[in-house]
Amino acid sequence: MAIVEPLPTETGERRRWALTSPVDRSALGEWEASSAADVDAALARARAAQPAWAARPIAERAAIIRRAVEVLIARKDEIVESLRVETGKPRAEALTIEILSSADFLNHWSARAVRQLRDERRRLHGYLLPVKRLTVHYQPLGVVGVITPWNAPFVLSLNPITQALLAGNSVVLKPSEVTPRSGAWAVDVLREAGVPEDVVQVVHGDGETGAALVAGDVDKIAFTGSVATGRRIAEVCGRRLIPCTLELGGKDAMIVCADADLERAAAGAVYLSMFNTGQVCLSVERIYVVDSVADEFVRLVTEKAAALTYGAGPDKDMGPLFSDRQLEIVSRHVDQAKQAGAVAAVGGSPGKGDGLFFEPTVLVGVDHSMPLMTEETFGPIAAIMRVRDEDEAVRLANDSAYGLSASVFTNDPARAERIGKRLITGSVVHNDAATIYGVTEAPFGGRKASGVGQVNGVDALRKFTHAQPILLARWRTKSEHVWYPYTADTEKTIETILRVAFGNRFVRRLMS
Ligand code: NAD
Repeated sequence: MAIVEPLPTETGERRRWALTSPVDRSALGEWEASSAADVDAALARARAAQPAWAARPIAERAAIIRRAVEVLIARKDEIVESLRVETGKPRAEALTIEILSSADFLNHWSARAVRQLRDERRRLHGYLLPVKRLTVHYQPLGVVGVITPWNAPFVLSLNPITQALLAGNSVVLKPSEVTPRSGAWAVDVLREAGVPEDVVQVVHGDGETGAALVAGDVDKIAFTGSVATGRRIAEVCGRRLIPCTLELGGKDAMIVCADADLERAAAGAVYLSMFNTGQVCLSVERIYVVDSVADEFVRLVTEKAAALTYGAGPDKDMGPLFSDRQLEIVSRHVDQAKQAGAVAAVGGSPGKGDGLFFEPTVLVGVDHSMPLMTEETFGPIAAIMRVRDEDEAVRLANDSAYGLSASVFTNDPARAERIGKRLITGSVVHNDAATIYGVTEAPFGGRKASGVGQVNGVDALRKFTHAQPILLARWRTKSEHVWYPYTADTEKTIETILRVAFGNRFVRRLMS
C-alpha cells in the first residue's frame, strides 16, 4: 500500500486519501482534500481579512510572532509527535531541523520586522535633491499562497508564512499530502499566538489542491518542492504575471581538498549525506575527494557510516524514507550504480522490516554516467568519487543541471572562498553544508534548475512586499520647466542643467 492512497469518492464529494506510516505501514487515518471551491472560499476570507491585518502597526504584528516562540516551545512535544508519526524521523532530528530552526526564525524575523518594513526615506542624488523627496513604502502584496513539501514539513511551512505575515499579507498554506498534520501545525502555532483565523489558513490535498491555490486569487506563491512542480507553478504564475519564489531540488557537491581535516570531513560526509534519511534539499549528494587523501577519507567514512543505527525507535540515528516513491528512486539509483561498477562499502540495499528503510550506504567507484551522480536521489547515500585535483572537483561539481548549494572541506578558509567563487551554486559552505538555510542573514536560493528567487537574508521580509517609491515634491510650483508648452526657455533650461551638472568632471562627481 502506498503511503498516500487516494480513496474512492462519489462525484461531487470532496476527494479523500488514506495515509500509511512509513515506519511500519500501519494505517494513520484518512484526510479530506479541500475542493477548488474550498480553496476559493479560503482565499476570499484571506482577501477580506488582509487590510485590517496590514493596518496594524508593524510592531504589533511582530509582537504576535514573538509570542509564537512561546507557543512553539509549549507545543513542541505534540509537534514532534506529529512529525514522528508522519515521517518516522528520529526525535533529535525533529527537534533540530524543525523546532530549533523554527524558534530561531520566529525570534529573528520578529526582531527585525520594524527595521525592515517601516517606510524608508532615501536621499536623492544630484539635481533631484533640491526639488524632490523620496520615501520607499514596503507595501504588502495582499494574499500569499504557500505550498510546501514533506521532508521538513513544519519549518518549511512556518518560515515563509511568518515572513509573509510580518510583511502584512494574509496567507493560505497547502502542506504536502504526505505530511498534512505536521504542516498544519505551522498555522496552529501562529493562530494560538494571536494571528486572526482568516489571516492564516490551511487547505489540504495533493497537486490538484495546490494547482487550485496557484490559479486562485493570490498575489504571490512561495513554493518549496520538486523541479517538475516548480516548472508548472512558474508557468501559471508567468501567465498570471504574479511573482513566485521557487525553492527546488538539489544535487549538492562536497569537495574534499588535500589539506582537509579528514576526521571532520568524514563525519560531515556521513551526517550531511544521511541526516533526515538524506531527504534534505541541501543534502550532500555527491562527494569529490582529491586522490592523495581519498584512501584515508573513504576508510573513515566507511567506519563512521557502518556505526550508524537505523529503525523505528526515537533514538535511532536514522529513520525511514518518508514515501514509497522515494524508496523506489533511491533503490533504483543505487542498483543502477552498482550495475555500472560502483561498489557498496557500506549498506546498499533496502533495510529490514515492513517500513520504508534503506541502509546507510557508502558507494565508491561512482561516476557521472550514473543517475546517482546526476539526478536528485534524496536518500542516505554517501557517493564518493576520486578526483585528480581541485580543478577537476570544481569542473565535476559544476557539471550538473542543479545549482542549489555546495560545500568545500579544507583547513584554509581562503582556499574555500576561492573554490566557492568558481562554483555555480546558490550558496557555498566551508567545512559544513546544510546549515546555510538556518543562517538568516544569508540570502538563500538555487541557481539553474534549483530554483528562482531567494528567501531569507537581510531583506527577507521585503520580498513579501512591493517596494513602492513615493516621490514627494519639495516646492509648491504651478508647473515644471520641462512641461508644456515647449519654448526656447525650456531648451535653455535643459542646456543649462547639462552644462552645469555634467560639463565638468568635478561637478559630475558631486552630481552622481
Ligand atoms: P513536490 O513538488 O512533489 O510537492 C511539493 C508540494 O507541491 C506539495 O504540497 C504538493 O502537493 C504540491 N503540488 C504538487 N503538484 C502541484 C501543482 N501542479 N501545483 C501546485 N502544487 C502542487 O515535492 P515533494 O516531493 O513534496 O518535495 C521534495 C522536493 O522538494 C525535493 O526535490 C527537494 O529537493 C525539494 N525541496 C527543496 C527545498 C529548497 O529549499 N530548495 C527544500 C525542501 C525540499
